[in-house]
Amino acid sequence: MSSIQATRMLTPGPTPIPDRVRLAMAAPLPHHRKDAFKQILAENQTMLKSLFCTESPVLPLACSGTGVMTAAAFNLFHPGEKVLVATAGHFGNRWVDIVTMRGLEPVVLRKNAGESFDPEEIRAMLDADASIRGVFMQISETSTGVLHPVREVAAITRERDVILVADGISAVSISPVLMDEWGIDCLITGSQKGLMLPPGLGFIALSPRAWQRVESVAPQCYYFDLRAERTSCEKNQTHYTSPISLLVGLHEALTMLLETGMDNIFKKQWALTQMARTGLAAMGMDLFVKEEGRYTWGLTSILMPENMPASPIVAKAYKECGVILTAGQGELKEKVIRLAHMGWVDWADLAAGLHALAWSLPEKPQGAYLEAALEAYHKALEA
Ligand SMILES: *Cc1c(COP(=O)(O)O)cnc(C)c1O
Repeated sequence: MSSIQATRMLTPGPTPIPDRVRLAMAAPLPHHRKDAFKQILAENQTMLKSLFCTESPVLPLACSGTGVMTAAAFNLFHPGEKVLVATAGHFGNRWVDIVTMRGLEPVVLRKNAGESFDPEEIRAMLDADASIRGVFMQISETSTGVLHPVREVAAITRERDVILVADGISAVSISPVLMDEWGIDCLITGSQKGLMLPPGLGFIALSPRAWQRVESVAPQCYYFDLRAERTSCEKNQTHYTSPISLLVGLHEALTMLLETGMDNIFKKQWALTQMARTGLAAMGMDLFVKEEGRYTWGLTSILMPENMPASPIVAKAYKECGVILTAGQGELKEKVIRLAHMGWVDWADLAAGLHALAWSLPEKPQGAYLEAALEAYHKALEA
């Protein structure tokens, strides 16, 4: 359908795709067992390692993010083992479900939506029960826009025989995540958030001690066999038929990210976050995550006033402004609107998002919220 305006996806996945990546994926398919494709996978591997800040292989798997979460739970732990799952929202709860289905015994640390964890509480739980073998958490909880203190938790787990599994699906390539330096044992991400790709690829990297664990666990999941994937990866292959177009698109996306420089990407993500927060506050909206240092860099959640449900506003922003926002998940469905600004999104897209939101509110906000937002953007970039 033609329209007088662009459709803008300001959603926490999928996210917009640059023309360079779309065109790369439109080229004729190379065969996945031939040299030209092996060359692409070899270069992807080098670029993925610098994205993850790791020396370990970063295995691409043909699945959505939940697939790599599943692969982590099935490959790293024996059924019956105890693991701590730190959850403060929808995706944390998914860890609980996955580890339970794997037959692990979860000890659940639960916080309210919008809250984060105190690393000292995690330390105390690990001190109190020496049989806990792993910690599962999100780096960024996408249902609320909270950034969890993974670096601090890694400083605790790396000192003991406890494997830290970090879901970085809405963090990797959005805010700094230094896998080896921080001591994350298992880092995962997906293609459709910060990586400027369509959905359908997951990524998982393991520390040397996590690989030792994988070698001791009998494979129990035919498709997600990380040992087999690693062996193929060493030959610049994937174990099963490669998602060829996505891996070609990944090559272009990683080239773009590294050409720009990850420091510049993170700076942009930070500046967009400041722009969103300042603009929303100037609009008179309530930010769901208030604590400094604890909000995601790619997503800003708005707490809706009482008697102002989210979904009519989200619907109007799409219908009248072409901007796709997202309501909350689960119990937050009508209470929160999520304005995402991750991946191939710039200040002009976010300005459109702020306008679409303001336009769709029952009462138009007073005041120069766009000017305030843009000023905050430039100030954050210069800082
Ligand atoms: C999007 C997301 C997932 C789930 O990914 P799917 O691709 O929908 O399976 C898991 N965790 C986090 C933190 C996410 O943002």
